[in-house]
Amino acid sequence: MATILIVEDEAALARVVQSYLEQAGMAVRVEARGDRALWAVEQSRPDLILLDLNLPGMDGLEVAKAIRKKSEVPIIMVTARAEEYDRLIGLELGADDYITKPFSPREVVARVRAVLRRAGQPQFELRRIDAGDLLIDLDAHRVQRGETLIDLTPTEFNLLAALAAQPGRAFSRLQLLEAAQGQAYEGYERTIDAHVKNLRAKIEPDPRQPQYIETVFGVGYRFRKPV
Ligand code: CA
Repeated sequence: MATILIVEDEAALARVVQSYLEQAGMAVRVEARGDRALWAVEQSRPDLILLDLNLPGMDGLEVAKAIRKKSEVPIIMVTARAEEYDRLIGLELGADDYITKPFSPREVVARVRAVLRRAGQPQFELRRIDAGDLLIDLDAHRVQRGETLIDLTPTEFNLLAALAAQPGRAFSRLQLLEAAQGQAYEGYERTIDAHVKNLRAKIEPDPRQPQYIETVFGVGYRFRKPV
């Protein structure tokens, strides 16, 4: 049974979400203060955290940052603010997804399930990724388009593999930097643009009209879902 920690100061809202998650077969713990959330994470070792952005005690972004120093537990940010900026910061701090208030409890259950499912899968379960005429062989570290072998640097290869392993998922630049180089520092996110540019020049038939790696405005990049 998955344990979900809800960090939310609106008690009525927390109760509704709690009851929906419990009906879906999950165990739920609720914490109303940001500064109590860290303690609750250590106490109850949740499988996923639904983290409100505006919290008494400690801001949700600060909580996410602090949790990430200790744990890789999936985090879904819950935000009333519509600004893209906050969502982006949340993703860069390592949140896995976000939900904007107002939301339907059913939507929350669906998103929680999706993130849990993703978290349960090893990142590179596939050893070969077949994306249209692009073939990525993760064991051999080889990429070919049609019959042509494409030479990639290790950084470019890791970047492509991370994107193509989850087609349709939008990654922040910081997440991609981490996937590509194994570490990521805030302030260096823009270096990923240079890697993507180089990668596109190598794999895209027409780099000016990319058909594999799409730009997600205000977020980062995603690999196009094969049609
Ligand atoms: Ca709140």
